[in-house]
Amino acid sequence: MRFTEAPAVARIDDAVLMFGGVSPDIGADDARELMALLASQRRGTDNPTLSALVNTSIGAPLSAPFEEGYELAEELLEELEMPGGATYIDIFAIVERLGISVITKNLRTATIRGVAIAGEGYGPAILLNMESSYNSTPAGRRFTLAHELFHILYDREHARRISHTSGPWAPPSIEKRANAFAAMLLMPRDLVHRSIPNNAIDVRGLFEACNLMKVGPSALLEHLYNTGVIDEIHREELRASLIPPANT
Ligand SMILES: [Zn+2]
Repeated sequence: MRFTEAPAVARIDDAVLMFGGVSPDIGADDARELMALLASQRRGTDNPTLSALVNTSIGAPLSAPFEEGYELAEELLEELEMPGGATYIDIFAIVERLGISVITKNLRTATIRGVAIAGEGYGPAILLNMESSYNSTPAGRRFTLAHELFHILYDREHARRISHTSGPWAPPSIEKRANAFAAMLLMPRDLVHRSIPNNAIDVRGLFEACNLMKVGPSALLEHLYNTGVIDEIHREELRASLIPPANT
């Protein structure tokens, strides 16, 4: 980020503030908003359930950020004994159980999807930026929550270091890993299999599975490809069918 544009944020050396977005360049208004948010979370603490799950030894992503994200999501689901018989992962319930506040705000910077706050002396919170088009659907908001949850659970130490540099706040591999985690958390393999009977993945089946799992079609499509359920040709076919036909 360019510190000159956000002098307030540059001062929060020890607080852990993690951005989810393409561009962390924020203006003074958003900087003030985030400082106020941090202040409101001060003197808070992790609840025991969250404390037991936080792992600061994960470190920077290694060669396979996707695999790391998947594995951590699967471990967490096992820990939480989910999904059980449910048709979707109730991410709002998970976050509530972990004592993480969810705050919706309209930041001016639309490229920020979410912001995660966590760390010593702070109550954990996730800000959903309603200005981001990504968060305009319930499925998008669920994905943002799952993504930010990753940062709260596993990226605290990392974020602290990142906030000391003047480079990008989150290297692409960190974001990739958090996205893979979010995808697997919301679309665990057994749930995918249950949602798509007989593996009949045509465009209708795709949308039915999306409705069941409460995820977006693009997210599900990429996840099916990344987990080897469909091949590249199949993905391209389905991608094409997601695009509305052009007006002729
Ligand atoms: Zn992120």
